[in-house]
Amino acid sequence: MQPLRGFRDITAPDTLLWRYIEQILIDLSCQYGYDEVRLPLLEDLSLFQRSVGEHTDIVGKEMYQFNDANEQAIALRPEGTAGAVRAMINNGICSRLVAKWWYLGPMFRRERPQKGRYRQFTQFGIEYFGISDIASDIELLNLSYLALRKLKLEQHVSLSINYLPGKENKSAYTKKLVNYLEGHIDLLDDDSKNRIQTNPLRIFDSKDASTQAVLKNAPPLSGALTEEELAIISYLKTQLNELGIKFTWDEGLVRGLDYYQGVVFEWTTDHLGAQGTVCGGGRYDRLSEILGAKPWPATGLSFGIDRLVLLMNELGITPPTAERAMVIAPSNLSTRAQNIQSQLIQHFEQTFMLCHQFSSTKKSIQRAQKQSIRFVVILDESGQHLTIKDLISNQSTEISTNDIDKLPTKLHDCFDPKGVSDE
Ligand code: ATP
Ligand code: MG
Repeated sequence: MQPLRGFRDITAPDTLLWRYIEQILIDLSCQYGYDEVRLPLLEDLSLFQRSVGEHTDIVGKEMYQFNDANEQAIALRPEGTAGAVRAMINNGICSRLVAKWWYLGPMFRRERPQKGRYRQFTQFGIEYFGISDIASDIELLNLSYLALRKLKLEQHVSLSINYLPGKENKSAYTKKLVNYLEGHIDLLDDDSKNRIQTNPLRIFDSKDASTQAVLKNAPPLSGALTEEELAIISYLKTQLNELGIKFTWDEGLVRGLDYYQGVVFEWTTDHLGAQGTVCGGGRYDRLSEILGAKPWPATGLSFGIDRLVLLMNELGITPPTAERAMVIAPSNLSTRAQNIQSQLIQHFEQTFMLCHQFSSTKKSIQRAQKQSIRFVVILDESGQHLTIKDLISNQSTEISTNDIDKLPTKLHDCFDPKGVSDE
């Protein structure tokens, strides 16, 4: 039986790459002082209607929503920020000065499945509450840049940034834009025609060439910014230059969620076609008010893990593989071997498999080599001695089974520099 369309099983060795990417994002976020938050996958439907916006693609077309047995309208979360703000209000965390959260987990959108676009996908997100200063946006931009660098992707992605005007200027600008677009309505694609009434800013996202040509002469978004906002932008640009982060200013970047206002950004790659955005984020100072709490400035981002995995596979970037080891022991000493295996795992804190099909030491070593195992630890017939052997350099060391905890903590360091080579 197949999984549902747009849903996938992820199995080894892919899971190794997933975990590698996730671990880099987790470690870096923890180092920047973000704490993990675990939030429900199901929420009240109105949470997303009120926050993401009823006229966005996500809420209007893509949500898995249904009534449960009590006729409560609920939805599988399509993104993480709305739930994070709900939780922040719900747990009284907004009375604190700042809160820094990261989350990792599945999101659900009923889109047309294709490479890089799935109905269940995984996001790693960060939300930084309590700071209205642009410094918090810069921290997120820097963190995302460092994460991409650690993943060796910085040469393959580029950063686009824009600044969406504050509430009043945004609606004044939207009116101007609608006026302009209505004068050219015949040249717009059908989707954009519909969006004029519902979500005109999103028309910037259209892939249609004729619509994009019309947009070229649209009133510039930067014209709607205040002096103060323009000063923030110029400060932001200087800071990014100082941090060595290259970017393109893109006035057409609007993002698909209504709650953004202020800095918005996306990291994209050319390698994944129309599914090229691997990370998106921005400032959403108004969201806590929209959900009925006091104002609480916030900025956030999220990485699409599925797309990072695809990109790394495409580029042939593999995680550094831990060098695996195997315990080889005569079959009549199997319990003793399990005991040794657990001691070795605890001492070296690395993978030690146990060879459960012993015929001869030589055959077991050959089998280990076929499984790309680098080190073997051979228990002798007496059950009292171990030979640790590096199958690549052929060096080996012999010890008593009582001396495991006297060994260095890395297998590489277990061999005398002069080598007890058997060649
Ligand atoms: P797109 O324009 O590609 O549809 P989006 O603007 O809808 O992306 P966001 O809501 O900003 O995406 O989500 C953040 C990230 O989550 C995206 O940059 C992308 O990496 C990932 N993402 C979003 N939707 C999907 C999906 N259906 N399948 C896989 N990854 C996704
Ligand atoms: Mg989308």
